[in-house]
Amino acid sequence: MPCVYLDGIWFCGPGVRHDWVCGLDGCAHESEFLCDYPVGHGKTCDMPLCKEHAVKVGPNFHLCPVHAAMFHREAQGREVNPTPGKLMLVK
Ligand SMILES: [Zn+2]
Ligand SMILES: [Zn+2]
Repeated sequence: MPCVYLDGIWFCGPGVRHDWVCGLDGCAHESEFLCDYPVGHGKTCDMPLCKEHAVKVGPNFHLCPVHAAMFHREAQGREVNPTPGKLMLVK
């Protein structure tokens, strides 16, 4: 059964949606962001992420730790064009 920790209170039960909770193993914090990493076909990874686990790489553009690592390898410190679904490197 999914549980989420919201404002100091635990909520558990079928009413708790899976995307309310951070998708990282062992983390039950409220998700505030979704991973914006494009995975093809116009879709993004969409892993729910709490404040702590979301890696901000642009305005309103967040990545899960796995994709953040991939992204940093690709971008090599360059800036990105933060259009969801269209992760483009700005030369
Ligand atoms: Zn988390
Ligand atoms: Zn991701």
